[in-house]
Amino acid sequence: MENNELWQSVLAQMQLHISKANFATWFQNTQIAAKDNEKIIISVPNAFSKEWLSNKYYKLMLKIMHEADTTIKELEFKINPQSLNTFKDEKIESEKINIEQLKFEELKTNKDTNLNSKYTFENFVVGSFNELAYAASLAVSENPGYAYNPLFIYGGVGLGKTHLMQSIGNKIAENPKKKKVRYMPSEKLVTGIVGAIRSNTMEAFKASLAPIDVLIIDDIQFISGKSKCQEEFFHVFNALYEKNKQIIFSSDRPPNAIPELEERLKSRFEGGMTVDVSLPDYETRLAILKSKLQEKNLKLPEDVLEYIASNVKKNIRELEGALNSLLIYYKINNNIPTLEVSKKLLKGFVFSPFDIANYKKIIETVAKFYNLEEKSLFHVTRRKEIVRPRQVAMFLLRKELKYSFPAIARKFGGKDHTTVIYAYKKILQESEENNKLTEELNLIRQRVYSG
Ligand code: ADP
Ligand code: MG
Repeated sequence: MENNELWQSVLAQMQLHISKANFATWFQNTQIAAKDNEKIIISVPNAFSKEWLSNKYYKLMLKIMHEADTTIKELEFKINPQSLNTFKDEKIESEKINIEQLKFEELKTNKDTNLNSKYTFENFVVGSFNELAYAASLAVSENPGYAYNPLFIYGGVGLGKTHLMQSIGNKIAENPKKKKVRYMPSEKLVTGIVGAIRSNTMEAFKASLAPIDVLIIDDIQFISGKSKCQEEFFHVFNALYEKNKQIIFSSDRPPNAIPELEERLKSRFEGGMTVDVSLPDYETRLAILKSKLQEKNLKLPEDVLEYIASNVKKNIRELEGALNSLLIYYKINNNIPTLEVSKKLLKGFVFSPFDIANYKKIIETVAKFYNLEEKSLFHVTRRKEIVRPRQVAMFLLRKELKYSFPAIARKFGGKDHTTVIYAYKKILQESEENNKLTEELNLIRQRVYSG
C-alpha cells in the first residue's frame, strides 16, 4: 500500500473514533513522511500535535496500520515545520466571505425543545478536563433514561456545561425514535412552579411536563433556598424518573455543596451519575481555538493562537470571546491581526491572577459560596456553619495571596495569629483527606479567578 493511501485509511478510521472537532485539530496537516523497515514516520505540524497524537492515539493508530500492513510495528512522530509555514503563508483571500458567518448565528433555538442547534458533540473538544463528562453525556444520548439517570454535570462558568447538555438533547431529538426533549434554564423552572403555585394550577403544570422524555435543567443551583419550589419539583422529578424519563442537570457545584437544598432532593440529584468539567490546559485551549476557526473556515497565524491559548485562561467562553474580538478586527480592517496587534486587542482578556484575586474578592466569594453575608465571616461565634467558611477564607488569603498570619489575624478583628495558623493547618490537612473540601476549595478558587 502506498504511504498516502495507508494514511488516508488511517484517517478514515480515526474519524470513527474521535469527535470531528478533535479530528480536525489533531490530524490537520499530518501525513506519512517515510517508512523505515518496521517503523512508520508520521510528520506533524507542531509539538502539540506530536504530544497529543503520541499520548492519546498511538495504540489505536498502530493497530489500524498493523491491520493494513502487518510489517508495521512502530510509529514515530516528527515535527515538520514546513507545514506550519505553508499554513501561515496560505492565501486567505477566499475566506473573506466566510467572515460574514461571524454574524450572530445564535438564534437557532427550536421552539418545541428550546434547544440551540449550534451545540453538538461534533464541535465539542474533549480533553482530560472534561473527558468523563463527555463520555457520560454520550452514553446518556445513546440510551436516554437507562444509562445514567439523572446525569448531573457541574463546574465553573463558561466551561461547557450548557454545550454538553444541549448536545445530548440535540442528538436525542434528531433520532428517528422522536423522543420529546425539553431544555429549561432553571429560572424558567422556578418561575413556572412559582406561577403554578400562585394560580393554583400545579396539576396543569405537571401535566405539561408529563409527555417529556428527556428533561434538561440548566443551572439547578438557583433552586437553592426556594423551599416551596423544591417541594413541588421533588414530585415532578419523581413522576418522570419513575417512568424512566431521562433527567439531566447542570450546576456550578456538586449537589452536596448546594446550600439550602432539601435533603431528599440532594439525594435524588446524587442518585445517578455526577460528573465535573474543569479548566482546559494549554494544549486543549489551543485545540479549542483551532476547532472554532475551522468551524468558521478561517485562519489566524499560529503565534497569535499560541498567544491567546497561553494568556486567556479563565474559561472557554473567554477564549471564544478573545478569538472573536480578533476576528472582528480582521473583518473591519480586512487585515489579519499580527501578534503585536493581537496583544493590544486582547488586553482585557489576558489573565493575571494578581489583578483578580484580592482580599475583597476572596471574602466576597467565600461568603457567597457558603450563602453567608460577608460580615458574618467576621462574627465572633463558634457556630459550625460560620467557623468553617471563616477558616476557608483565612486559608485562601494565606495560600492565594501569601498574606502573613498576623496580617490575616488583623483583618479578622485582631485575633491571635495562632488561631489563623490553626485554621490554615486544619484546612490544609483536611483538604488532603477530604474530597468534598478539596472540591469546595477548587470551586471557590475557580470563581475567585474568573473575575
Ligand atoms: P457553561 O454552561 O459551563 O457556563 P457553556 O456551555 O455556555 O458553558 O460554554 C461557553 C462557550 O464555550 C460556549 O460557546 C461553548 O460552545 C464553548 N465551549 C465550552 N466547552 C467547549 C468545548 N469542550 N469545545 C468547544 N467549545 C466549547
Ligand atoms: Mg451554562
